[in-house]
Amino acid sequence: MSKTYTFNVKTPRTTAMVDITRQVEEQVQDSGVKSGACIVFIPHTTAAVTINENADPDVVRDFLMEINKVIPFSDGYLHMEGNSAAHIKSSLMGFSETIIIEDGRLYLGTWQGIYLTEFDGPRLRKVHVKIIEG
Ligand code: ZN
Repeated sequence: MSKTYTFNVKTPRTTAMVDITRQVEEQVQDSGVKSGACIVFIPHTTAAVTINENADPDVVRDFLMEINKVIPFSDGYLHMEGNSAAHIKSSLMGFSETIIIEDGRLYLGTWQGIYLTEFDGPRLRKVHVKIIEG
């Protein structure tokens, strides 16, 4: 058995990490699946998904500060839309994550959260969640 869900996330600024753990957990609970896998997929080219610490907000600040240094907003890019940095950051981060489901819950570590990472916001983003029993 499997189920697919989609929810929207409004991102607040040009670059941001939005904690979507609660929304994904809600879909897992709605599915009724007790053991299986949950795939979180971002259907965009300038946003991505990652798992990292969601206890100290400084982790997010440091992450965004550093990734914006590694991939600067302007660096002689050719792409006419002007958002090459966002495309590159998104591919580096990746567009999906797989999380184990056990006891009807996401089997995340104590300090882990799921983040939608925005690199060309603010925008309304879609998040697809596929929940597979097994
Ligand atoms: Zn573009």
